[in-house]
Order: sequence, then structure tokens, then C-alpha cells
Amino acid sequence: MTEHEAELGVATRLVGGARPVGPGASLNPAVEFTSTYRADGLVDYARSGNPTWTAFEQVLGDLEGGQALAFGSGMGAIAATLDLVPTGGVVVAPRHAYSGTGALLRRRAEQGAVELRVVDIADADAAIEALDGAALLWTESPTNPMLEIADLPTLFAAAAGAGALSVCDNTFSTPLLQRPLALGADVVVHSVTKYLSGHADVLMGATVTADPGLQERLLTARTLDGAIPGPMETWLALRGMRTLHLRMERSCANAAQLAQRAADHPAVQRVRYPGSGAVIALEVAGGRAGAERLERAVRVWTCATSLGGVESLLERRRRHAMEPDSVPEELVRLSVGVEDVEDLWRDLAQALDEVAGRA
Ligand SMILES: *Cc1c(COP(=O)(O)O)cnc(C)c1O
Repeated sequence: MTEHEAELGVATRLVGGARPVGPGASLNPAVEFTSTYRADGLVDYARSGNPTWTAFEQVLGDLEGGQALAFGSGMGAIAATLDLVPTGGVVVAPRHAYSGTGALLRRRAEQGAVELRVVDIADADAAIEALDGAALLWTESPTNPMLEIADLPTLFAAAAGAGALSVCDNTFSTPLLQRPLALGADVVVHSVTKYLSGHADVLMGATVTADPGLQERLLTARTLDGAIPGPMETWLALRGMRTLHLRMERSCANAAQLAQRAADHPAVQRVRYPGSGAVIALEVAGGRAGAERLERAVRVWTCATSLGGVESLLERRRRHAMEPDSVPEELVRLSVGVEDVEDLWRDLAQALDEVAGRA
């Protein structure tokens, strides 16, 4: 990146990053479908590198302030990052992290690969106490699906003081709302499947770090474990990222409106909304049955898992066995999309009316 480009705003960098240059160049990077390359170049085999990955990695790395690596899924990126922990090393992790992360950590702990210490990540004192002798601190903020907020700068500083690496899963915030490397994290991970690609049409993940030694180790993990994305998926993710700022702006504005309106509905006992981002959790009346009723009653919203796409989704999180008991049975997670907010509200309100028994 030239000095001139470094001064550009985020939207301009999202739109213009990693485009081929020179007379006659195509405007978009090519989708390079190949398994191998002619000998004596920088990369010899396509499990080690692909020019379409490089374009995607340049744009994401620039946004997060480090070097990015594309992975075949968010879980692939998470597994590679956990490989940074030496055998038997202590991992401090939030009770309410993404359910797949929690399950992977528990599996590794059962196998003796790591020692797991689960904490309430919103309680900085408890998390810091658990860091004694730790190899790695895992964070999410806001957490999935409880939307708790952690004091990230304090936790990252404490981890560094304790000699532990710190990792932040930045999927919910995206680098537009939060840049963990600037707050002191060593590694950022993403489920690119969500906001970054943004259209619920690919699975992909990424890591970002500003530490060349960690970058080398993550690259080795990706190459040897083989958790690589396809070039077509990577191209779609990069195309999706061109409009990340527009989608986030609209989704977040819609979410702020809906969180406020939902709070006044008699079928809503509690709204969890951290004040930014586009995920909301509602605890609805009638327990599990009430939440299931809401799932069935929506028409504009779709009842489906996942988040971060242009379309609005909701689901009762405890329908998944992996979700811990501390998540209420009646908690419904909403991923707010970019539709007309009045349509989203009318549909949600009529579904909540049914939950309240006044339809
Ligand atoms: C979806 C998700 C993941 C897992 O990513 P995949 O792309 O599904 O493998 C990890 N972390 C968070 C916060 C997620 O929402």
C-alpha cells in the first residue's frame, strides 16, 4: 500500500482494495482455479497459496491492521489459532463464546491437548485471575448469543503481562466497529461466512495478526491441516466485502430501531442489545414454548441459524444441544438484515402478539 492509499477512508479501501492495476487490467482479481503452478515461483502448490486468496487477504488485513490468512471456514481459522497453544497449555475462554468454539475447546480439553478455564468474560477481575499461568486468552465481545461486553484493552494487557497470547473472535463487530489488534490482541479470527461475505452463500474464515512469527505459524497450520477455502468462495467473499460498510450501516440502524421497539412489547421480558452491531437477543414470555411460537409465527424473518447476511434471521438458540444451560430457554437471537425496518417490525410485532396470546 502506498502512502497515498494509507490515507484513504475505510469505505474507499473496501471498494478499491486489491484491484489489478495497469492498462487493460481487469477491474476484479481473477478466480484462479488451479491446484499447482509452474516451478520456481513463490508458491509451488495451491494448498500453500492462491492469488484470489491474496486479494481477499489484502483487503481484510488492511482493515484489521495486520496480515490476514483465508481459511475454509471460521472453525478452520479457530482450530489453526488454537494450534498456537503448546500441548497441555491453559486456555482461558468465555462461558458464552460461539457454541462451536466452546465445543472444540471442550473436545481438546478431553483429549488432553489443552487445559480449559471457563470464565464470565464480562467480569474482568475473574478473567484476569484465571490468566495465571495461561498460554492463551480467547475473547468474544459482544459474546454469542448473550451479547455480554468484555473490557478488551484491560484483558489484552493482562494477558500480555501474564505471558499469554490473546485472541479475539471479531465476527460480530467486523473491523468497522472494533479493531482488536489496535486494542492489544495478538490474533483476530473471523467467520467470514457472516458479515464480511454478507450474503449467506459461502462458508469461509480468516485470521489476522500483526506479528510475523505468529503469521508464519498460522500459515504453516493452514498449509499442513489443509483448511483452505476454494478460489470461488474467496472471490465471492471479496465481492461481498466491497459493500460491507453499506450493509453494516443499514443492519445496525435497523437493529437499533428494533431493539428499542421490542423493549416496549408485552411479550418481551428482556432485550439484550449492546448498543451497536446488528445482533439482538430477546427473552420472550412463555419460556421455551413462547420462543418456539415466535419462530413459527414470522413471515418476513426466516427461522434459521447463522447471522450477518443481508436477510433477517432469528432462532431460539437452545434448539442447539451445544448451547450451554446458562443461555435461557426463551432466548431468541435476531440477526438483523438490510430490509425495510417497518416491514421487519410489523412482522416481528405480529409474531410477538401471538406469543403474548393477543393475536
Ligand atoms: C459462525 C461463527 C463461527 C464459526 O464460523 P464458520 O464459518 O461457521 O465455521 C465462529 N465464531 C462466531 C462468532 C460465529 O458467529
